[in-house]
Amino acid sequence: KDFAEMSLKDIDQVAKSSFPLCMRHLFEKLREDHHLKHGGRMQLGLFLKGVGLKLDDALAFWKAEFSRKVGAERFDKEYAYSIRHNYGKEGKRTDYTPYSCQKIISSTPGVGDHHGCPYRQFSEENLRAALGKMGVGNRALEDVIDKVRNRHYQLACTLTFEAVHGTSCDAGINHPNQYFSDSKRILEL
Ligand code: SF4
Repeated sequence: KDFAEMSLKDIDQVAKSSFPLCMRHLFEKLREDHHLKHGGRMQLGLFLKGVGLKLDDALAFWKAEFSRKVGAERFDKEYAYSIRHNYGKEGKRTDYTPYSCQKIISSTPGVGDHHGCPYRQFSEENLRAALGKMGVGNRALEDVIDKVRNRHYQLACTLTFEAVHGTSCDAGINHPNQYFSDSKRILEL
């Protein structure tokens, strides 16, 4: 099955079932606040491009949220450019690549930022709550927390993947878009 396209009407459902925690968190914050700061827009925007959200749908998606906060006009003026830019339609026309786990884990989000890797950034309490919401059961949850305490964030994410999907992930998680495509493959079997 081809994942080359993701349609907007499915996006909430798919975010719940197949986004890794870093992207779920950004997605939920965007829906909640109708806004994300630059680092979050880049991390989520490039991920969405990577899962096959077309440019027109991406513009519609971001505009629907940002308009509620800053108005449609300001969105068109200040934010649409950078989304087209991410798709290589502006500036140097570089086709920007979605961020790897390594890049995300090593990023340094400031106050009010929601990007970065939650396994590294969240307090233990918030992480437990977020994992519970994803359906990670008690025993698996303790294993995930154990990995986090030892700073093995990608292993923590891999264990989460395994707990949520009820199957092993031998290759391990090294890219949010890999998490997504592995998840889709399993769910669509
Ligand atoms: Fe995202 Fe990678 Fe962190 Fe998982 S390990 S939450 S995919 S950055």
